[in-house]
Amino acid sequence: MRPNIRDMAGYTPGEQINAAHVIKLNTNENPYPPSPKVFDAVRAALTGDKLRKYPQPLGDTFRASAGKVLGVSPDSILIGNGSDDILTILTRAFVPEGGVISSLTPSYSLYKSLADIQGAKLVTVPFTADWTPPDPWPAKGAHLSFLANPNSPSGTALRPEQVVKFAEQVNGPLVLDEAYADFCEWNGLELVGNIPNLIVTRTFSKYYALAGIRFGFAVAAPELVRQLVKVKDSYNCDVLSLAAATAAIEDQDYYAGLRSKMIATRGRMTVELTELGFTVTPSRANFVWCRHEKPVKPIYEALKAKNILVRYMKYEGYGDGLRISVGTTAEVETLLGALRAILTS
Ligand code: PMP
Repeated sequence: MRPNIRDMAGYTPGEQINAAHVIKLNTNENPYPPSPKVFDAVRAALTGDKLRKYPQPLGDTFRASAGKVLGVSPDSILIGNGSDDILTILTRAFVPEGGVISSLTPSYSLYKSLADIQGAKLVTVPFTADWTPPDPWPAKGAHLSFLANPNSPSGTALRPEQVVKFAEQVNGPLVLDEAYADFCEWNGLELVGNIPNLIVTRTFSKYYALAGIRFGFAVAAPELVRQLVKVKDSYNCDVLSLAAATAAIEDQDYYAGLRSKMIATRGRMTVELTELGFTVTPSRANFVWCRHEKPVKPIYEALKAKNILVRYMKYEGYGDGLRISVGTTAEVETLLGALRAILTS
């Protein structure tokens, strides 16, 4: 065993209790089902001898559809078994053992695990009070830098012009982790052609309601994608996930309907949680980050006792809070009722 593996803590995923009586607002899944066309596509993939044969190594059918929908060249798309797979591929490709990864804090804690596995050092820089990177950026020249945009847990998002500036400052490859960008009014996709060190990553786990199928992708310069292909497993995405992801990305109308509902619910959560005494950071993602003058860990525990799961998060040098996913209207109604009871008891 390499010593860095023995010494590392390992990433702790959110609790995955998938019982019908549990309201699950802890890992930012979409509370609504995927497009009906996804079910048709998966059923079709189960016919004939499609499971017997290997899938397309580069996902050409998906790349053609996604390229058309997103207005990018199919050659600029790299497919992944979830966007975590993409983040792993990028780390393996860019970061040598003993190398340096930079990111902001608080942010996605997987970046630390990726650095640990690689035997690299993660340099974290605190966000400023208005959730932007400090200027000048003090960790220039890292082998790889990660920026979750919108960020987790805050739900805040830098605007494209701020991303451009940050990409210049990091002075090395910058991964714009856009797991939640489908819920934001802007994103960095258009920047990819113009900023050579920018790589955008996306997931199907949130907006596309396919966390169980595991699919994500990166958009980067085609010459970069050709290099990254060498690092990935030959068949990192299976026949069923490719079929599901292709059908989902082609059904933009369906998902736009879900987005409107979820953004309305996010607004309601922000207002009502504030009324309950929480400090809620305005969110551009499908969750809200809230803190309270009362200790939040007991609130998380009291919610759990009522079968409502939210994410309790604590960050060194920053403190703790609750990250609550946007649920269905009914789920959020139940959540708010439970919080009212907990906070007044
Ligand atoms: N990036 C961020 C910022 C996330 O919060 C998540 C979800 N945990 C991911 C990437 C990974 O998503 P996926 O399910 O596609 O691996």
